[in-house]
Amino acid sequence: MSKQELMEEVTTEIAACRKCGLWKKRKNPVPGRGDLNADVMFIGEAPGYWEDRKGEPFVGAAGEILDKMLSKIGLSRDRVYIGNILKCRPPENRDPSASEIKTCAPYLDQQISIIRPKFIVTLGRHSTSYILSKCGLETEGITRLHGRKYEVELLGFQALVIPMYHPAAVLYNPKYRRDLEIDFQLLGRELERLGLFD
Ligand code: URA
Repeated sequence: MSKQELMEEVTTEIAACRKCGLWKKRKNPVPGRGDLNADVMFIGEAPGYWEDRKGEPFVGAAGEILDKMLSKIGLSRDRVYIGNILKCRPPENRDPSASEIKTCAPYLDQQISIIRPKFIVTLGRHSTSYILSKCGLETEGITRLHGRKYEVELLGFQALVIPMYHPAAVLYNPKYRRDLEIDFQLLGRELERLGLFD
């Protein structure tokens, strides 16, 4: 099966998913979006209000910040893949529960296995802790982890994981903007080093 067909299967499963209670209040599931051959995959936390309305990841205020950061290093959404750990919006945008993450993350794993990105950028503490633990690495607070690079093997392939602050953190506290810019610059340098810019 092609990547496209495999991703369509996952997307169909997500649309029919009733494994936790979040489907009851969602307007739309948000499976993820982007280039299935992308070198870079971003993993956020969960859909918010606008994502739930539109069925697409990062289309609200945090998404605007993500777009700005991407464009500063010469990337755009259509060259990357953007997904989340949870595919349905938690009520009032509360944090995902451990059991919701456990239940939903297999969809993310399938998506990662289909895309096999060279870089996995985890946005915020939930996706960072999920991915690093999966690689058998210890996790700490995002304040300490952001901007580090981890060469990992996960789901049977090699990738570089770069944890970053969640773009929404910049909305709550503008002092994180500079850190996020610096971490995106690191991603840009790594892409250049591997000759992955056209
Ligand atoms: N925050 C996330 O973590 N993901 C989205 O898709 C939107 C906001």
